[in-house]
Amino acid sequence: MNKLSAPFTFSQSSLQDYFDCPRRFELRYIEKLDWPAVEAEPVAENERRMADGNFFHRLAQQFLLGLPAEKLSKLAASPDLSRWWDNFAQTFSSPSDLGSLHPEAVLSAPIRNHRLLAKFDLIAVRDGRATIYDWKTYHKRPKDEWMAIRMQTKVYRYLLAHAGSHLNSGQPFAPESIQMIYWYADFPSEPSTFHYDASLFKRDEAMLEKLVDEISSLETFELTGDEGKCRFCAYRSCCNRGVGAGDWKDAEAEAEVHETFDINFEQIAEIAF
Ligand code: SF4
Repeated sequence: MNKLSAPFTFSQSSLQDYFDCPRRFELRYIEKLDWPAVEAEPVAENERRMADGNFFHRLAQQFLLGLPAEKLSKLAASPDLSRWWDNFAQTFSSPSDLGSLHPEAVLSAPIRNHRLLAKFDLIAVRDGRATIYDWKTYHKRPKDEWMAIRMQTKVYRYLLAHAGSHLNSGQPFAPESIQMIYWYADFPSEPSTFHYDASLFKRDEAMLEKLVDEISSLETFELTGDEGKCRFCAYRSCCNRGVGAGDWKDAEAEAEVHETFDINFEQIAEIAF
């Protein structure tokens, strides 16, 4: 019997986990198992980078909400944070030029009997056009081809087209008016930009519905056949897929912080079920 509770809240992280390994999805989101294995070595360095990455997102959010850059720069205390912050403050020195800003926006929409939810770093709207910004603190700049097929790229653009009309005076954004930019804090002049259009929207909708149908009907969540995925997975010992973690430098994105939705659900803009 399928164990998914309805309505289940899907996110780009949970769908990416399912895509990478169905068993990981089951362990993390259905069995809610916290397994004590570390995801990447060396542990202290990896944890520090993840903590700095989270704090950088807080600084960016506070800046976009109007706090002065000079005050925030004093909080960027570690070498990584200081470098990321300087790059950010230089690149986005006049944020109002981007349009009307919606930092940390949360959008949600029904999908089948469930819900799809995303928390955005920033949505900027100008003249009926919307740009999704996502800050990444990767140590290596990923290839655009790799970012293009991430669930995040698909889910974020799809949700904005599907459930973002309140950000556009009540009119849905045409898919052609949406773009998504990943801005890399260590590579500030090399962002990745992904445009959107109606055919991609249709394709994403069909793919997401198919995935949700599949997850909702599965009885057995198989272990991935790609054991490379296990090197950076917290459930290695649970699955008998080795005990040593991979080096974080080899797989930063694999070890990216899992979304924990510290979200006030009353504030979520959601189209009606
Ligand atoms: S260790 Fe490997 S098989 Fe087990 S959940 Fe993680 S990725 Fe999947």
